[in-house]
Amino acid sequence: MNYKGIFVDDVEEIYAALLSVSGSEKDTLSIQYRPLAEAATLAGELFNERPDIVLLDFRLDENPKMIDPQKSYNGSGLAQLLRDKSSVAPEYDFPIVLISGEDKLESFYRPDGTAHDLFDRIYQKGQVGENPDPVKNELISLCEGYRQIKEFWADKSKRLSMLNIEAEEIELIVNQELRVALSSAGAPHIAARTILKCLIDRSGILLSDNEVAARLGTESLAPLEPELLHRKIRYDGVFNLGWRRWWAHRLDDWSKEVFNTRPTNITGSERVKLLNAKFGLNLSPAVSTWNNSSDEKFAFSCAVCERISEIRHSVSAFDPHAPKYSHRKRICWDCIQTERHLQKKIDVDDVDANLAREVLTKQRNGESSL
Ligand SMILES: [Zn+2]
Repeated sequence: MNYKGIFVDDVEEIYAALLSVSGSEKDTLSIQYRPLAEAATLAGELFNERPDIVLLDFRLDENPKMIDPQKSYNGSGLAQLLRDKSSVAPEYDFPIVLISGEDKLESFYRPDGTAHDLFDRIYQKGQVGENPDPVKNELISLCEGYRQIKEFWADKSKRLSMLNIEAEEIELIVNQELRVALSSAGAPHIAARTILKCLIDRSGILLSDNEVAARLGTESLAPLEPELLHRKIRYDGVFNLGWRRWWAHRLDDWSKEVFNTRPTNITGSERVKLLNAKFGLNLSPAVSTWNNSSDEKFAFSCAVCERISEIRHSVSAFDPHAPKYSHRKRICWDCIQTERHLQKKIDVDDVDANLAREVLTKQRNGESSL
């Protein structure tokens, strides 16, 4: 497909060219630069051009030559005007991405921040400049994802089909909360938000590579990929091109077959022994972030360091927006003791606050130094 994007900024236009995808690629994205104009006029023009994606800077008020400071606005102001238009005409909805020079992005992207829900994704200009390819891939995936969502839009009962899953599995994995979120969404961008933030970004129904590795007890997923693909464990629904994910329920079925029990009932060493025997591989087991042992029952990827961790050496993260169908985030003891979670601004849940305090002075053999 050939997708058309528009990049709005008051100072720089280089990102339009930097993020365009052309040539022999299967999907192309040509992004045009658009200077500022009065907000309502610009929103009307952008919308009427029927773009496949719009990219905005957050600070649109830094160039008084382009817009009268009295009439200036920021990226979320413009995004809100565009979202209002697509709520009235959902057939023309498109993703809106923030390409920001701001360092403190998380302050307005936090779940309780006002701008949080307006943007499908947020990228920093520095990150885009250094390594544009992964970002381009995600932008194309957003264009394609919206196109797919719109295909399934008219019939509310069919919207779950955008996940590309068998009808009998929908009964099994999709709970009321997700079903209602998708069927009641008033515009494609609201359905997209649910899929991106609750399925793609959170483990539960879908799992990232790290989460799959944690369940298998080994960091080296690559040698197992042919088998995982053959068993159709890879997610190939909406947005799969930009973000590789795996179906948790299919992985569960497959791993029970391989391990003869739930993976978390046996240690990483035991799991890897069974995997190696069954598939003729030479995988190494993961090691605990706390004690370097492979004889731990690895279960998840730490919300802070993303390494494979075990429940007994971890605490609950404060995760107030977790939907019922997702797993609550956890933090490994190593991140607590080294206070890595503070830099990432991921807090400990109150239920584990005392334990986290104890971990600060715990020695790695499990004895407290006090
Ligand atoms: Zn960690």
